[in-house]
Amino acid sequence: MKTRIIVGALAAALLVATPSRAQGKLNVIATTEDLASIAREIGGDRIAIESIAKGYQDPHFVEAKPSFILKLQKADLLIVVGRELEIGWLPPLVQQSRNGKIQPGAEGYLDASLTAQILEIPNGNITRAMGDVHPFGNPHYWTDPENGKRIAKAVSEKLVQFRPSDRAVFEQRLADFTSRLDTAEKRWLAMTAPYKGTKVVTYHRSFPNFAERFGLDIVGYVEPRPGIPPTPQHTLDLINEMKRQNIKLVLVEPYFDLKTPQAIGRETGAQVLVMPPSVGGVKEITDYFKLFDYDINLLIDAIKKTGAK
Ligand SMILES: [Zn+2]
Repeated sequence: MKTRIIVGALAAALLVATPSRAQGKLNVIATTEDLASIAREIGGDRIAIESIAKGYQDPHFVEAKPSFILKLQKADLLIVVGRELEIGWLPPLVQQSRNGKIQPGAEGYLDASLTAQILEIPNGNITRAMGDVHPFGNPHYWTDPENGKRIAKAVSEKLVQFRPSDRAVFEQRLADFTSRLDTAEKRWLAMTAPYKGTKVVTYHRSFPNFAERFGLDIVGYVEPRPGIPPTPQHTLDLINEMKRQNIKLVLVEPYFDLKTPQAIGRETGAQVLVMPPSVGGVKEITDYFKLFDYDINLLIDAIKKTGAK
């Protein structure tokens, strides 16, 4: 009898002493692989993390599978890109998960755009009437590593809120991630510096943050408006503008049809370059650092080959 009480007391003491282990891992779902990669850096083994959209999919248009609802049901925390990037597919999934913890506005709903630098915020009345899928500014903000740091900080603060006993772990991991990203960013800036001002065209408006950070000049888009497929008149205008400005590169996200970009390439002599804006866009891009490594190398090779300026 006495022994049993002592064992019971010991077990209780152990539970108190290691609250995080007793609580298990936090279940975190991120809408994209970019957010998942950053959250993994901060959460380490204290979280279980999964993403919904794959990096090779258009994040505006993801097929809402029932398996996503199951994942969301078990989530403690949902991290979203926000600015309505996921408006076309996420809200019904979150609703149908019936998980009160991760509904918009709840403690377990983190909108990563709130502390990020957002470009292309429209002036005046916001309208989706013309089909523009960026009504609250450009949602592809993670393509600037400075925003990567801001996302990481927001994730760290949220994890601390859930697990105050692991504060030191999350803050240490945030400091480590930020310092490695600082070092990498210096390297990327040095690599891109000789090509500052290079003029390019992109298919969708996925790269304004990337372009601003690394000195690209985006002079036009294959889409007439974000989310609107190319039209013959717009394509003709773009070809004329590219000829006038001697544009040698068309960057295309992996999930768009190459037919129009290739026609533009034939007319203008520009090279069509498939450039992923996300982790998982191609299999080599396994984390947030490799996204920039891959894209910057791809871009510099193409600039050298085409003589783009
Ligand atoms: Zn977009």
